[in-house]
Amino acid sequence: MSKINLNLPSISLGCSPLGNVFGEINQSEAYSLINNAIEAGVNYFDTSPYYGLTKSEEVLGKILKNIPRNKYILSTKVGRYGFKDFNFTPEYITKEFENSLKRLNVDYVDILFAHDIEYGNIDYIIEKTIPALRNLQKNGKCRYIGITGYPLESLDYIINRTEIDYCMSYCHYNLQNNMLTNKIDDWIKKGINVINASPLAMGLLRNGGPPEWHPATNQIKEKCKETATYCQNKGKNLSKLALQYALNNQNISSTLVGMSSLKELEQNLKWANESIDSTLLKEVQEILEPIHKMEWRY
Ligand code: NAD
Repeated sequence: MSKINLNLPSISLGCSPLGNVFGEINQSEAYSLINNAIEAGVNYFDTSPYYGLTKSEEVLGKILKNIPRNKYILSTKVGRYGFKDFNFTPEYITKEFENSLKRLNVDYVDILFAHDIEYGNIDYIIEKTIPALRNLQKNGKCRYIGITGYPLESLDYIINRTEIDYCMSYCHYNLQNNMLTNKIDDWIKKGINVINASPLAMGLLRNGGPPEWHPATNQIKEKCKETATYCQNKGKNLSKLALQYALNNQNISSTLVGMSSLKELEQNLKWANESIDSTLLKEVQEILEPIHKMEWRY
C-alpha cells in the first residue's frame, strides 16, 4: 500500500490547454478557470515546460503568484521540451526544472514527473534520471516523483525495476481504450499512485473533435466522430459519458481533465455528480467496438 497522502481530488485540472495546444485561451479566462477550480475543490494542477513550449507554465505561474501555496497541489515535468526535443540527463533536467519553478513562481512542486519516458533510453532513465529526481526530492524541490507516458509496457518496465511514487498514464482509461485496467492492480500493489490523464482521449471524445496534431489514426478519429454525432442526435453529449466513465474507477487517484474555460469546469463538475446513462453507455460501447483498445503510434 502507498504511504503517500497528497489527497488528490477525484477530478483535477490538466493545464496543457493553457499552452494553447487545443486553441487560444486568454489570461483572464485562465485566471477565472484556476481560481474557480480551487474554490470548487479541483485543486490539483498539472503542467509541463512542453505545453506551448513553456507557455502553460508561464500563464499558470502568473496566476499562482497571488494564491497561497497551501491552497493547491502542483505537478510539472522534466525530460520533454519540444515535439522531438528530449533530454533526460541529470544536469539538464535539474537546470531546466529550476526554470520551471521560476516560471511557476513556486519553491517546490508536489510531484515531479519524467515526461514521456518512452522517448528516452529507458534503462538510462532508471539509472540516471530517476535518481536525479530523488535528489531533487531530497533537496525539498519536489515532494514526490513519478513518470508519465503512453505505452503501458514502458511504464510497467520502469515500475518493475525501480521505485517511483506516481505514474501518470494517458489515453488508456477512457471509452475508446481501457487497457490500464490490465496493469493498475499490480501497480497499486507495488505502492504506486495512478493518475489517469485524458478521459476525453485528448479531444477524440468530444463534439468538436480532436486538435490537428492528434496522433490517432483516421479510423479512430472517424469512429469517435460518428459516436459524437450519434449522441448529439439523441440530445446527449459524448464528453459527459466519457468523463463519467473515467471517473468510475476507485483505483485511480485522480482523473486529469484538460479544461479550456470556466464553462467546461462547471459542466464537468455538474456531470461528475450525475449518474451515468447506462443505456447510452452500452450503445456507445457497441459503436466504438471496432476501435476499442486500438492504440496509435507514438
Ligand atoms: P483530455 O482528454 O482531458 O481532453 C482535453 C480537451 O477536452 C480540451 O480540448 C478541452 O477543452 C476539452 N474539454 C474539457 N472539458 C470539456 C467539456 N465539458 N466539453 C467538451 N470539451 C471539453 O486531454 P488532455 O488535456 O490532453 O489531458 C488532460 C491533462 O493530462 C493534460 O492537460 C496534461 O496535464 C495531462 N497529460 C499528460 C500527458 C503526458 O504526460 N504525456 C499526456 C496527456 C495528458
